[in-house]
Amino acid sequence: MPLYVEKKPEVLITEDGVRTDGRKPYEMRPVRMTVGILDKADGSAFIEWGGNKILAAVFGPREVHPKHLVLPDKALVRTRYNMAPFSTPERKRPGPDRRSVELSKVIREALKPAIFVENYPGSVIDIFIEVLRSDAGTRVAGVNAASLALANAGIAMRGLVAACAVGRVGDFVVCDPNHDEDMWGDADMPMAMLMEAEEITLLQTDGPMTEEQFREALKLGRNSIRFLYEMQKEALKRPYQVVERSVRGVV
Ligand code: UDP
Repeated sequence: MPLYVEKKPEVLITEDGVRTDGRKPYEMRPVRMTVGILDKADGSAFIEWGGNKILAAVFGPREVHPKHLVLPDKALVRTRYNMAPFSTPERKRPGPDRRSVELSKVIREALKPAIFVENYPGSVIDIFIEVLRSDAGTRVAGVNAASLALANAGIAMRGLVAACAVGRVGDFVVCDPNHDEDMWGDADMPMAMLMEAEEITLLQTDGPMTEEQFREALKLGRNSIRFLYEMQKEALKRPYQVVERSVRGVV
């Protein structure tokens, strides 16, 4: 018998577009970013986004172990996304699973185009993403924090990668799906962009949308990502200080 049983809310979004947490479709949950919080890491950042609490730590460029993984002409980029057993409503079994392996891969692929890997031949850049509390959208929150941690580590980058999920609930395209919407909504579409190049480095979707809804979602995602990118730049200029937005309209 599980200790915690989740229930689908009767109404996920009202006819006039009010969501289960009171937000309007285009509103984002409150976000706080803090850069440089771990003195033992080369770079670090902490993001709180809705109920998510996620730490990112970067080590490197440093010597590669095991040696056979060395890439002679560029840096190896390794990413580990991990959820603490206490981070979910129901206790998560510790250690890697299929989901964390997939998320580590998509996060690495979202970040890698930003890194000048050719500047660090034969070395490794290790990126750790530790989810302490999860509340939907952990992969995009992880990308934002990891990008800040890379910059905080002084890694040469083309620019910052910022990320946000958008989705569909009934007829509404929504920004930053919450836990209910992630579980019972109609589509979830995490996105990341290398802002300087206006290049999409992550785009996944797990539900149907019409072409018109998809275009709307893409536009909303891009605008939301731009908003987070501005926060990231501010957070980098103010290490050890919280940069916070609770004004939630972004478009
Ligand atoms: N989740 C959970 N247990 C798990 C995996 C996920 O409770 O083992 C929850 C967690 O809150 C997570 C949400 O489900 O944020 C959505 O997970 P998903 O795989 O869609 O990735 P995310 O939205 O976090 O990027």
